[in-house]
Amino acid sequence: MAKIHLKQVKKTYGKAPKAVDVIHGIDIDIADGEFIVMVGPSGCGKSTLLRMVAGLEEISSGDIMIGDRVVNNLEPKERDIAMVFQNYALYPHMSVYENMAYGLKIQGLPKAEIDTRVQRAAEILELGALLDRTPRQLSGGQRQRVAMGRAIVRKPAVFLFDEPLSNLDAKLRVQMRLEIQKLHASLRTTSLYVTHDQVEAMTLGQRMIVMNKGRAEQIGTPAEVYGKP
Ligand code: ADP
Ligand code: ADP
Repeated sequence: MAKIHLKQVKKTYGKAPKAVDVIHGIDIDIADGEFIVMVGPSGCGKSTLLRMVAGLEEISSGDIMIGDRVVNNLEPKERDIAMVFQNYALYPHMSVYENMAYGLKIQGLPKAEIDTRVQRAAEILELGALLDRTPRQLSGGQRQRVAMGRAIVRKPAVFLFDEPLSNLDAKLRVQMRLEIQKLHASLRTTSLYVTHDQVEAMTLGQRMIVMNKGRAEQIGTPAEVYGKP
């Protein structure tokens, strides 16, 4: 059974007669453990769709299921997802450790469990030596690794990535892309990843969703989408 199931999901901004359909009724099934990348020109609705899955944006009609639950009316924190943003969205006054631990504290997990999870994430992401620093004392790549650490400590059913690498320089983008691949190879967390970078899409995506003007124009493997060489 699919981990993420979108059924005739629509999004309309504004009210008639000025209503604008931004997502026109999308059907997508994302398998458990799959890494799927969403691409398409600016303004085609990628962010809107991702934010609706995250619960940051209401859907106008249709259904979104995560696991076996319809999540249409659930808050982001009730959806068993973690999201990684382009601008990292770290807490500037907190240390790396506290940035990763914060969400778990809010959930009320025991300190020992929080510590185990943060230490483990720090190990995976090679942040062990940086736990006492604040975000300001980190490079862009390190900040993005903290943002990912904060997502993985939650052990969510689903990762949502919103152009996570687009603020990094070209060399770091390549390096972080490899790290994300490694992370998925070991955790196998179902992932929906938005990018406008074709190379990123082809190397990371097991399948791709090609969006255009609020519709999923094509869904398939990179070879199917771009044609075999
Ligand atoms: P993408 O992420 O693919 O660049 P978006 O999802 O950000 O596209 O935007 C899709 C469309 O929805 C765009 O035409 C954008 O102008 C419109 N849009 C996004 N947010 C709003 C809003 N709050 N009100 C009205 N229109 C919006
Ligand atoms: P409190 O929640 O009591 O304000 P902190 O959030 O500062 O305390 O830290 C809680 C626990 O997290 C500490 O007792 C410590 O075990 C662990 N901890 C905090 N920072 C670090 C760090 N940089 N490296 C390892 N463990 C840390």
